[in-house]
Amino acid sequence: MRPISGELVYIAGMTARKHLKALLAYCTFLVCMVLVYAKLFQYLMLHLEGREFSFIAGIYWVLTVMTTLGFGDITFHTDAGYVFAGIVTLSGMVFLLILLPFGIISLFLAPWIENSLRYNPLLEVPERTRDHVVICGLDPVTRALVSKLQVRGIPFFLVLSNYDEVRRLEEDEGIRAVYGDPSDAGVLLKLRADRARHIILNLGDKENVNIILTVRSLCTTPIAALLDEPCHAELFHLAGASQVIPLKRILGRYLATRATTKGAFAHVLDSFGKLLIAELPVHGTPFSGRTLKDAHIREQTGLAVVGIWERGKIIIPNRETLLSEQSVIVVVGTRENLETLEKLIGELPGQDMVMIIGHGRVGCSSAGFLEHWSVPFVLIDRVANPDCGEHEAVIGDATSRTILKGAAIDRAEGLIATTNDDSANILFTLASRHLNRHLRIVARANREENVTQLYTAGADFVVSNTSVGSNILMNILDNKDSIFLSEGMHIFRHPVPEAMHDKTIRSCRIREITGATIIALERGRKEEPTIIPPPDTVITRDMTLILIGSPEQETRCRELLH
Ligand code: AMP
Ligand code: ZN
Repeated sequence: MRPISGELVYIAGMTARKHLKALLAYCTFLVCMVLVYAKLFQYLMLHLEGREFSFIAGIYWVLTVMTTLGFGDITFHTDAGYVFAGIVTLSGMVFLLILLPFGIISLFLAPWIENSLRYNPLLEVPERTRDHVVICGLDPVTRALVSKLQVRGIPFFLVLSNYDEVRRLEEDEGIRAVYGDPSDAGVLLKLRADRARHIILNLGDKENVNIILTVRSLCTTPIAALLDEPCHAELFHLAGASQVIPLKRILGRYLATRATTKGAFAHVLDSFGKLLIAELPVHGTPFSGRTLKDAHIREQTGLAVVGIWERGKIIIPNRETLLSEQSVIVVVGTRENLETLEKLIGELPGQDMVMIIGHGRVGCSSAGFLEHWSVPFVLIDRVANPDCGEHEAVIGDATSRTILKGAAIDRAEGLIATTNDDSANILFTLASRHLNRHLRIVARANREENVTQLYTAGADFVVSNTSVGSNILMNILDNKDSIFLSEGMHIFRHPVPEAMHDKTIRSCRIREITGATIIALERGRKEEPTIIPPPDTVITRDMTLILIGSPEQETRCRELLH
């Protein structure tokens, strides 16, 4: 419901005041009419019928006649009197019973109802707003970001130039967006863009560049922009964007890294000081089918396995955990450790053949990645990609079995389902799993709600547009010492709590207390960290703990370890 102040504002408004004046004038006219008729009544009664009435009786008679009540206690008995009474009745009907209510309805009631029903969008943010995030453009990625910001209590303002979208968002989802065109400097000022902590742009490339230029003419607030066409990245930087995110290219690479084991460095997700964090599919490596103890990854490469993805769920492994063909291991180590791994798996025969369904921007980026690592691939798309002159695709609808069979699905080792149509991706996953039981299927989910369906259909790994995009944006906003592994896993630093100085890791029971696991100990950021320190390592006050855990476990560490 609208607050009562809204109605008061309306009543005090200019138009309403003009209408009120008109109503007062009309009422004055009515009062004068009644007084004149009352005087005439007195005169006619005296001169036509010889009866004398007071002026008050005259008013009383006029009112009963004009309102058509006609009690009949005072009546004329002459023709001229009847004519006068008729005129008074008619003018009462016209001026009092028709025009007055009509005027009140059209001048007051109707505009008031209309005003109550009309939606007033938010046009600017409160004057003192600061350190907020301004988000331009609404799609599943920014929607997921909004949910994350809400959970974290970070103030944000969405700005949308579509009136209906603003209204629907507020009425259906309770999110109050600012209505305006963000490429307009006036709107940016009303958004207090100069005092914002970050501006996130998620519109078309042309609109994004336009907004970046306008923002830069006003202030230096950092801008993170999502990019459609990778070739526009340079333009974004030139215009003044602080971070440019080619989401489709990142997704393509991310999908491809899960379809091949080639090139250990290609799998590095992030670095944490001197530590590199990489995810690597076990498929096709000598580790497949062994327990962590028997795989000897640590002994051969120096890398520590800190997590294992099994069909979308991460587990913290122990020595007995089995590495299956479908597992994706999360390893932590130094550059040298990864080089050793690269030598180890790079020498394997390249029997990896990957089929990519969908040769759009994402599929093309996956193909480019595989090409770089000399992994053979076959591309399928309904239409030729006009922006790609490098790859030749099989043209056809991949939902048809003949196309899949013709493209040698039975010989493929991996499949990347990356069309922009989730139901098609679900269908390919189902059909390909049926045709080739051992296939390694990596699928793209354009909408978060289809992730589970893709896993159910038989995908080994699902990469969601929405969560990758929103996680990247959230990391940019956080700008903190914690990295994105994937949904639900963080690596973070923590000082050694006072109570744990000079004690062994085992006796500190950090995993029992918080659920998080120590993956490294750091002594100054320049020194080589100790990766996966043995449980009898003594932790001293000059060390920093590097831990892996869920966001909840990270919070528990911050709360419980002082
Ligand atoms: P993008 O979002 O840029 O990665 O593009 C997605 C690609 O998927 C486009 O090139 C579409 O032609 C392609 N696509 C969509 N549906 C199908 C389908 N049923 N079979 C093959 N390709 C498809
Ligand atoms: Zn291509």
